[in-house]
Amino acid sequence: MVYNELRKDYLLNRWVVIATERSRRPTDFAKQKTEQAESSSCPLCVGNEHMTPPAVMIYLKQNCEIEKSMDHDDARPKNWLVRVIPNLFPAFAPPKEQTNQAQIIKSESYGCAIGHHEVLVESPNHDEDPADAELPQLTLLINAYIDRLRELSAKPYVQYVSIFRNYGREAGASLSHAHSQMIATPIVPRIPAEEMAASKKFYEQHQKCVFCDIIEKETKSPRLVLENSHFVVFAPYASVHPLEFWILPKKHASNILGLGKAEIEAFAGTLKTSLKALKDLLNDPPYNYGFHLSINRDARDYYHWHLEVYPRLSIWAGFEKNTGMYINTVKPETSAAELRKTIHA
Ligand SMILES: [Zn+2]
Ligand SMILES: [Zn+2]
Ligand SMILES: [Zn+2]
Repeated sequence: MVYNELRKDYLLNRWVVIATERSRRPTDFAKQKTEQAESSSCPLCVGNEHMTPPAVMIYLKQNCEIEKSMDHDDARPKNWLVRVIPNLFPAFAPPKEQTNQAQIIKSESYGCAIGHHEVLVESPNHDEDPADAELPQLTLLINAYIDRLRELSAKPYVQYVSIFRNYGREAGASLSHAHSQMIATPIVPRIPAEEMAASKKFYEQHQKCVFCDIIEKETKSPRLVLENSHFVVFAPYASVHPLEFWILPKKHASNILGLGKAEIEAFAGTLKTSLKALKDLLNDPPYNYGFHLSINRDARDYYHWHLEVYPRLSIWAGFEKNTGMYINTVKPETSAAELRKTIHA
């Protein structure tokens, strides 16, 4: 009897069974081609700006310059490159009027979902996803993440900002126009909170950042997908999804606010290359990605931001939902090898 391997996440108390005897090849997950109905009434397309609430931030194309602005009154400029709008049905909504900290704490104790929920329209082109986007456009998107994170994280009632992207209907994207979302919350949600607590403990015990340590190990492991001067991409040791990969900056930082121009460009390039590999390998599968970061100054030394990419290739059913333990039918080492091969093809 050969047992399946049982692996634990670097930090989280989360276990996964690597069930390779089911021996599915990553390419078994390749998506069948389906006809996508094109909507002529996409509310995120150029010309339909009036279908959305006024933008809280837009990058406008002004001759050769990019100007940062927002929608004023009824004016809705159409020469935008990136457009950030409040979600029409927000999960978290800002306080009604100027509210002080004491009131916020009071309202939070009454269970109000105070915060922000924004949609970042990534491009004027309906289908311009990161895997296909031009690098300057993708760089603008990263800049927009940083600009919005700076503004939202400065609010007294915001404790965490989740930046994420749902791609494909099966991954939860209700609009097909290229977009990301940002949700600012009045508490730190469970997974980042657990990561932060575990990295803090590691730091206190070893006087070093656990993610810097992970980078050192994974760049020499068979799980490495790609490495350049600023970033590493690898399939995490206890991946819970087939083809899951994470992008980590080599330079230690707890969030993306301090990224320089060269690092932003390198991040755009790294993101594009790895998402393109996923797209080519599996015929454009649905996925979610999300940043893990900290806006708490205390976490500066011990927390290390990263982006986690979760291809939606398996369905979590009774066992996963019931236990929080996962079964992954593709070894992370195999996922990494397939992604590497696709990048170098
Ligand atoms: Zn559109
Ligand atoms: Zn670090
Ligand atoms: Zn994480």
